[in-house]
Amino acid sequence: MLPAVAQFKVLTSAMTGFVAASSPAPMPMASVALTLEARAVEPIEVPLFDVNHVESLTVVIGRDGGVTAATFGQLEHVMRCKVTNNEKPIAKFTLGMIADASDRYRGKTVELVSGFRDKASESKTSPHRAGRAIDFRIVGSEIGELRDYLWRHFSRHSEVGVGWYPSDGFLHVDARPGLKSIAWTLLNGANQYHPAWSTAATAPVTTRPTRSVGL
Ligand SMILES: [Zn+2]
Repeated sequence: MLPAVAQFKVLTSAMTGFVAASSPAPMPMASVALTLEARAVEPIEVPLFDVNHVESLTVVIGRDGGVTAATFGQLEHVMRCKVTNNEKPIAKFTLGMIADASDRYRGKTVELVSGFRDKASESKTSPHRAGRAIDFRIVGSEIGELRDYLWRHFSRHSEVGVGWYPSDGFLHVDARPGLKSIAWTLLNGANQYHPAWSTAATAPVTTRPTRSVGL
């Protein structure tokens, strides 16, 4: 008797073969779509609202940030610079972070605060200028919980930035390959690096606070 997970893998493998062999016959995929394993790999439907251009769209983003060519263009456009209206593709890894955040609060609107930025005052080294950063909030989320999750989940195995902007109620995420992961809180107009919440979020489970930590 196989363990449950192994049985599921056999089932899905068999079904994949069935799809290939008999497509376009309808598949009873709904029966397995809600299992945890399927959910862990399926693309995420992300409802977006761009607060700068007052535009809404729903896109499907893979866990790895992969999108279709059409969605790629839509995202490049909606995340254009709010000052110059210039466009630049957003890094795949960063899109994956947004998809993962959206999945955690499935169905809730992801408000885009900032994506690509190339106005004159934007730093030459800004991850926004490089198309690697997104500022966002999820309406109805607990921002401290989401902040801690993103830092804990992504900073250990990838090079990322996670920033918290409590006065404006949004989070910044970026991919920064080749650099060290860094967390910060914008407080009184200045970034406070290595904030207490980032240390608490990555503490061993036994010592991690049950509620999110402040600044
Ligand atoms: Zn930012």
